[in-house]
Amino acid sequence: MKPYLLLLLGFVFASNIFAQDNDNDPAGCREKCSHAHITARPDQVDFYQYPSMDKYDVKYLKLDIAVETGSTYVSGTALTVVKAVQPLDSFVAELRSNMIIDSVFINGVKKNFQRGSDHVFIPLSPTLPAGTQVTALFYYNGTCSPNAVFAGTNGNGLSYSASVSESYQAREWFPVKQILKDKIDSADIWITTDQANKAGSNGTLEGVDFLPNAKKRYRWKSRHAMSYYMPSFSVGNYMEYDNYAKPVAMAPDSILIQHYIADDENYLASIKTNLDKTPAFIEKFSELFGLYPFADEKYGHAQAEIGGGMEHQTMTTTSSFGSTIIAHELGHQWFGDNVTCATWNHIWLNEGFATYCEYLAIEKLPALFPTTNPATYMQNIHNNVLSQPGGSVYIPEASVYDENRIFSGRLSYNKGGAIIHNLRFEMQDDNLFFQTLKNYQQQYHDSVATADDFKHVAETTSGKNFTDFFNQWYYGEGYPTFNITYIRQTPDSIILIVNETVSAPAITPFFKGLYEFKITSAQGDTTVKAYVTSNNQQFKFKYNKTPNGVVVDPNNWVLNATGIITNGGVIPVKLVSFEGLANNNCIAQLKWKTTNEQDIKNYEVEYSADGNNFIKAGIISARNTNAETVYQFNYNLGPGSYHYFRLKINETDGSNSYSRVITINKKCSVAFTLNVSPNPVSDNLFITVTQPNAEKTTITLLNAVGAVLYSNVKLLNAGENIIPLDKMKRFPSGTYLLRINNSNGVLSRKFIRK
Ligand SMILES: [Zn+2]
Repeated sequence: MKPYLLLLLGFVFASNIFAQDNDNDPAGCREKCSHAHITARPDQVDFYQYPSMDKYDVKYLKLDIAVETGSTYVSGTALTVVKAVQPLDSFVAELRSNMIIDSVFINGVKKNFQRGSDHVFIPLSPTLPAGTQVTALFYYNGTCSPNAVFAGTNGNGLSYSASVSESYQAREWFPVKQILKDKIDSADIWITTDQANKAGSNGTLEGVDFLPNAKKRYRWKSRHAMSYYMPSFSVGNYMEYDNYAKPVAMAPDSILIQHYIADDENYLASIKTNLDKTPAFIEKFSELFGLYPFADEKYGHAQAEIGGGMEHQTMTTTSSFGSTIIAHELGHQWFGDNVTCATWNHIWLNEGFATYCEYLAIEKLPALFPTTNPATYMQNIHNNVLSQPGGSVYIPEASVYDENRIFSGRLSYNKGGAIIHNLRFEMQDDNLFFQTLKNYQQQYHDSVATADDFKHVAETTSGKNFTDFFNQWYYGEGYPTFNITYIRQTPDSIILIVNETVSAPAITPFFKGLYEFKITSAQGDTTVKAYVTSNNQQFKFKYNKTPNGVVVDPNNWVLNATGIITNGGVIPVKLVSFEGLANNNCIAQLKWKTTNEQDIKNYEVEYSADGNNFIKAGIISARNTNAETVYQFNYNLGPGSYHYFRLKINETDGSNSYSRVITINKKCSVAFTLNVSPNPVSDNLFITVTQPNAEKTTITLLNAVGAVLYSNVKLLNAGENIIPLDKMKRFPSGTYLLRINNSNGVLSRKFIRK
């Protein structure tokens, strides 16, 4: 929380005469843009917390105070019960020096005390041992700082006085230990005021006592642990409007919702629609995060011009009733109140999550947000974050007393909410994401947590590692800007080359993570996801359209900006596929598919019997079309079991490239054949022998009467062999016989010498 005032009072005033519901205006600003307008709050500059307060553990608080509307004066008693966790030689509490302490009693005995500017010290003698229960009762009064108690009237006739203690302002109105890790285990808050008023506070209204002098006393009782900044009062001439939430988890019981608002029927009529959304919000959030943590007490709103909303446990104080601020403050009941940031460094656990609760209400209950689009809402959040290049969600130690920094709308609220959305996207499983939120609530209820505690729950619930995520988005600064080059790779894929530049390179040089890209096309858009781990990474996707652009992160899952989108054109794929098989006749049937042929002259089919030495087996002319084209080629296989083919792709400019080599495994043998040509022959004869194996073969020439004219033994190859037999001229004209023999048998052919 934290309200704004001063300069904005006039605006606040006007805006509340008519209930405004700026549901399209995201986050932080309406709750606490306050801080941007509060300059130099002197009390936060030299804030110091006396470490002796860590020697005790706060168990119980009872405030019994008198408050009137229109005034910041508070008087009464504050009783604190603590347990010493170390020996106590003094009891130390925080209380601003402008508040007057009349007397102090320790365990019923009146004590001397000393004042510092921000602390009260009560020496204890003898020292109380660890384990001792100590009751400290203060009688006090004073006019509180307007930083902590807001008093005035508004345009709807509301006269009010209301406390707001976050982050360091509880000490402005009661003695307190302002250390987040030590929650107050239970409390009673009694408020005495004029009979015309009602007084709202934490927990259950136990009763209203009518007192002398036309006063009433409201007795509120809370039995849930609460942070030091949670005890609150809102006193006003209120009307009460009640409704009830019925979470499924507690059916048929219901939760009372008490609204203390300006006593003006017209005003009620103007905000009733939104007040009546509160039950649905409680029911939905109970479903998403686990049952409303204070279901046995109540929820409520108390109106006061505090310049925004403050998520007081079980009763939010707020100046207005927009749907999203109702959702935000209600979300805090889980995130901030039930589980509180352990230190102000981790205000994300309060404000980032409450901001995300606004988004979730819009996303999950669209009927209640008829004019608000969740994507637009998230886009507006992103736009605010991206308005400056740096800044972490984590509050650096040096800024932990700087409320403007703690409640930075841009970083704690908007960036905080945006990175939760991103974490949900990283999980890629809403069941795991919401189970994480439930487990976190379960594990840290009534207690405090750090961002690392949340990270641990997210990791154990999802099984994923979020170290990079938190280093980049939570502790890191800035955001990536994506430059995308898309290259169509025909016929059925596209390549995205993803380049990132970052806005705070010295701190966060790169943002790893899951990103979506929408490839736009006249034939319809296609959204793809890529897990980016390094710069200029290439991603290939199945894609068969003609792209005309890329939209980075179209659904606003991730904080980012879009840089340059480049159409890298088309990579011509001349060869889509090349395959072959052999039939039973040892004929290889080759087939290849092409597309986008440009300037191709022909395809030269090459054969190899050994996979190394290729010979030309044939040539097919290219058709040069963009369309997919199928080519076929048959080839008689020689002997052997393995046959190798490749394509040499010859382009018209003389260049060429080769396809991959395909292997056909087919055991082929060759018939033992003999042929002689020409026939008749005049001089040079060619003998063609095919044989299955390489072996020595005897070649014999005989004349018509069977006389051997020539005989020779040659080593012939497997397959086809062509053997020249020159100078037939030396023999007379007539009929001759050519005979070969080897292990395959004997073959002979007659021929005529002209
Ligand atoms: Zn908030």
